[in-house]
Amino acid sequence: MSGIYFYNTETNRKEEFVSIEPDHVRMYTCGPTVYDFAHIGNYRAYLFEDVLRRYLKYRGYKVTHVMNLTDVEDKIIRKSQEQNCTIFDVTKTYEAAFFEDLDSLCIERAEHYPKATDHVPEMIDLIKKLQEKGMTYEKDGSIYYRVNMFKDYGRLSGNRPETVQAGARIDADEYEKEEATDFVLWKSRKEGEHFWQTELGEGRPGWHIECSAMAMKLLGSHFDIHCGGEDNIFPHHENEIAQSEGATGERYVNYWLHCRHLLVDGEKMSKSKGNFYTLRDLMNKGFHPMAIRFFIVASHYRTPVNLTMEGLHAAHASWSRIMDFHGRLKEIMQNDAEGRRSDNLDEERTQCLQRFKEHMDDDLDAPRAVAAVFDFIREANKIMDEGPIAKIQAQEILEALSQIDSVLGVIVEEEFILDEEIERLIQERHEARKNKEFAKADAIRDQLTEQGIILEDTRDGVRWKRR
Ligand code: AMP
Ligand code: ZN
Repeated sequence: MSGIYFYNTETNRKEEFVSIEPDHVRMYTCGPTVYDFAHIGNYRAYLFEDVLRRYLKYRGYKVTHVMNLTDVEDKIIRKSQEQNCTIFDVTKTYEAAFFEDLDSLCIERAEHYPKATDHVPEMIDLIKKLQEKGMTYEKDGSIYYRVNMFKDYGRLSGNRPETVQAGARIDADEYEKEEATDFVLWKSRKEGEHFWQTELGEGRPGWHIECSAMAMKLLGSHFDIHCGGEDNIFPHHENEIAQSEGATGERYVNYWLHCRHLLVDGEKMSKSKGNFYTLRDLMNKGFHPMAIRFFIVASHYRTPVNLTMEGLHAAHASWSRIMDFHGRLKEIMQNDAEGRRSDNLDEERTQCLQRFKEHMDDDLDAPRAVAAVFDFIREANKIMDEGPIAKIQAQEILEALSQIDSVLGVIVEEEFILDEEIERLIQERHEARKNKEFAKADAIRDQLTEQGIILEDTRDGVRWKRR
């Protein structure tokens, strides 16, 4: 028994997490449609998934995480037609931007980022299995899933076929279908659209089949965790279950975890509403990406969060407190003076780690886990105000912080080099060069680069900037 509890959307309750294979978690998370820059709402989902994978690792699991890249889809095709280029020209740009954003937000890389366009044969195989079982029908060259054939439809979202109104617009894939809940697996070729020549005819896959095919290829037909934002529950994830279990007859996923939306003025942030900010928009307003990360990871993933500038400023202030505390400990490590050991501080540190784990075990309760960290920072600062502490103790606290940060991912080492320290090193490098000690000069430059400081040799001397 793991002692970790997750709220499972399928059962509507918290359940103790038990992995299928001991000590190994296989998880799938729905990734971006790479037709434009992702917005911060999307990153709420990716940050929640990042904290989830980091926490599973913190608790000793090996994690195999797959996130798909949707690189063929209506919006991509429309953009490629508008710009008179291929779908690959469109997706290349936004894929690169996506990975840059992941790095800015310190989102760990998943083990696999499969692209839909690389997995069309797997999708065809899956559709063929469904055809063999009589779960599909064809109309004008397109192939549809006949939802009435899957008796468990609605298990995840509660949307049973008979309760979904005929003609209701529930799916972006608007093709002719017999029942409202039926959905398209294969779209017949339309003039001017990217298509594949296949055994199913000319066309391209529907969106839902992508995730089933890629998840089962890389994680097996039955895996532990599947995540996404709450809008993915229906129809996307409901349809994934229908396709995957319909084809294999096996259970597809054990735990379904969904984050609530990031809102703007109480409404879901989305491209179509036009109420969105990209990461770049917020960075251009002067917000540090780590303050943005902190804003999101310190909220509970199952609470809707309203994005406001005040909220981001408050997050920046809280994040700075962690950074200041971290900096204070680093300074102690560099000081020559040796201080005392405080038993209280040991006790506070142990308690902080315990509470952090307790709260994260309880369905990733980050607000409480983060509160435990701030309680500790407050008490530790008080103790340190009373007089210097021993270096070994500062070191132990830094290790505890580093453990916690392996989950929160908000501490950036390179922020800690002070302006005066940079000036001192630049001066030292200058002296070294004057004395023709080039190896030493280069080593100083490398050290600065490592800490995110970029040097520029100009006619007026050396200029520097932070990366
Ligand atoms: P999309 O590119 O729209 O398929 O979304 C990619 C991921 O972001 C999915 O997991 C969505 O559920 C999630 N998502 C989209 N908008 C939001 C939002 N405002 N808040 C949280 N997650 C979102
Ligand atoms: Zn998906």
